Amino acid sequence: MLVVCGAGGFIGGYLVKSLIALGERVRAIDIKPLSDWYQLSDEADNVQADLRLRESCHEVLSQASAVYNLACDMGGIGFIENNKAECMLNVLINTHLLMAAKDHRVSKYFFASSACVYAASKQDSTKGTALCEKDAYPAMPEDGYGWEKLFGERMCRHFSEDFGIATRVGRFHNVYGPYGAYDGGREKAPAAICRKVIEAKFSGREYLDIWGDGNQTRSFTYIDDCIKGIELLMKSDVAEPLNVGSSEAVTINELVDLVEAIAGTQLERRYQPSAPLGVAGRNSDNSMIRRHLGWEPSIRLREGLEKTYSWIYQEMSNALGQTAHEGNEKTSNQNPTIPIRSSK
Ligand code: NAD
Repeated sequence: MLVVCGAGGFIGGYLVKSLIALGERVRAIDIKPLSDWYQLSDEADNVQADLRLRESCHEVLSQASAVYNLACDMGGIGFIENNKAECMLNVLINTHLLMAAKDHRVSKYFFASSACVYAASKQDSTKGTALCEKDAYPAMPEDGYGWEKLFGERMCRHFSEDFGIATRVGRFHNVYGPYGAYDGGREKAPAAICRKVIEAKFSGREYLDIWGDGNQTRSFTYIDDCIKGIELLMKSDVAEPLNVGSSEAVTINELVDLVEAIAGTQLERRYQPSAPLGVAGRNSDNSMIRRHLGWEPSIRLREGLEKTYSWIYQEMSNALGQTAHEGNEKTSNQNPTIPIRSSK
């Protein structure tokens, strides 16, 4: 039995589906009620549990042969900069899962780490330095969230050395795609920009707010590449953390250009210098993953954004239709408001 933790979230939902498609038996866990999971696979054993608790971890890992830990209280830069303690508390999830994995003699354990483990000093230029795995040390990761991920990586390493659990660590770089958060404060840049452009289209607004000056550089990894990376990494014998990220770096302004081109619109850009920014520039150096797995993420940003934009557009249109319909039923003169999120 494979256990996917954080299965009600974005990446976890896709992972459960892909493992089931491979014919695996899957137990899917999340703290959220099942009705709030982004994707729900009926074929899985779906369980609501708080994995910060030691007893929950012990219970859900009974009969587990492998564990995928993607459970985490996190979000985009706005969330992680303003909720550092909350992010650090994710340490409880990984710690209790590893302890339960040891007790249940689980043979393989995957930990979803992040590019936020990389040292700040390597990311102070908007040139977007490609970060290779050794650049996490000397350590000075993103405060809160990044420190917890780096500590989580070390926990995996030492549980592997001391207790023989084969741990695998993927350092994800900005994963995006349909079925991810696009509003509510936990969304990342690609989904946030798509939402803002769609809101502008629906409302007739002619401008777009951009956090910072738009010159920050990032790379964005389409969800299918992320899932493939997890699958290959789990099959491999690579015990060291590996980047799972696209190496197609763009500035936030270029990201906006792409979304505008997909939407067939152009908006005035209003820059917000005091908004949360994160590091100046970051890209993924894929030499290690190519060498070890003979593969690297390759889905072009334009292609992934088209799918993401069209899913968010559909969700927002559905919600707008629903709001308009409800509005018409109540008072026929009310203007429909911009939707928050339709039910999934
Ligand atoms: P997500 O927020 O969509 O999913 C995480 C899930 O974990 C959520 O559904 C949440 O309810 C669940 N969770 C939180 N606390 C829990 C608890 N105590 N018990 C059980 N479940 C709990 O995030 P995601 O984008 O799917 O990310 C998955 C993993 O990948 C996370 O560890 C994240 O840090 C890592 N990661 C993601 C990205 C990205 O760009 N999406 C980048 C780097 C790393």
